Amino acid sequence: MAAARRRHVAAGDPVVPAAPSTIDLHTHTARSDGLLEPGELVAAAATAGVRLLAITDHDTLAGVREVLAAHAIPPGLELLPGIELNAVTDRPDLRESEVHVLGLGVDPDDEGLEATLALQRTRRRVRFEQMVRRLADIGRPVDDALEALPVTGEDDALGRPRVARAMIAKGYVSSVEEAFSLYLSRGRPGYVPREGLGPVEAIRAIRAAGGLASLAHFGEAPERLDLIRELKAAGLGGLEVYYRTFDAETVAAVAAVAAEARLQPTGGSDYHGDTETYAEAHAALDVPEAVGVGVRAVVGR
Ligand SMILES: [Zn+2]
Ligand SMILES: [Zn+2]
Repeated sequence: MAAARRRHVAAGDPVVPAAPSTIDLHTHTARSDGLLEPGELVAAAATAGVRLLAITDHDTLAGVREVLAAHAIPPGLELLPGIELNAVTDRPDLRESEVHVLGLGVDPDDEGLEATLALQRTRRRVRFEQMVRRLADIGRPVDDALEALPVTGEDDALGRPRVARAMIAKGYVSSVEEAFSLYLSRGRPGYVPREGLGPVEAIRAIRAAGGLASLAHFGEAPERLDLIRELKAAGLGGLEVYYRTFDAETVAAVAAVAAEARLQPTGGSDYHGDTETYAEAHAALDVPEAVGVGVRAVVGR
């Protein structure tokens, strides 16, 4: 989430949607590091006018499966099963050496993908516990506050936002952003490097499960054409052009990269729920209808 990636936050002209967006291909629920229950998110998106929604929790399809099993999809809304994989690169010049890969339209019953996700979740849990220990070592214990946070189930993809929320509850910081900048980002005392999939493995796992692999919130794309080409050769099929907090200039620059590299543009809110309602986030989302047409064609819907 908003771990202050460069050009991630609108600095130039904000995007002003001409009409309410009917597409949101990047959202999180309480099954990873979002705050809404999967059913609540789907209902809020439908109310806001979304017709094509992807739930893209980190490392888990639990939210998608719950919504499908409960037949909790409002009429007129299509749910695209999705995933977001944080991939570790060997490029220290990237923020925290990571890129995030969205998998859109994956088969939620694919066993190979589930095995990959289970391994990612195990690594995530180990890292989470190491971070909590580090914070305790520097006099910022959060165990009791963590216990008081809503439980999100066995499939919970534990992440830094959850640690950050516990730090707010303890009064150490006043916002998730402050927790990241003072404690949880690379170089800060609570930071633990991630171990896990590389981007090529992430792309392959998504492709093998029938999904479109799209590089998420990569505002640096225009300066990273080498990486874009490398990932495209590995099977990357999309680029998240219409990211909610990109400014208009960044959207245009990333759109040009997608066109040149022949990557399907994707777009979404990356809604987590920390600072606004879904309706408020949706008001700043501008994903063209053509994105839905293109993504549907790629994933065979
Ligand atoms: Zn991300
Ligand atoms: Zn995300």
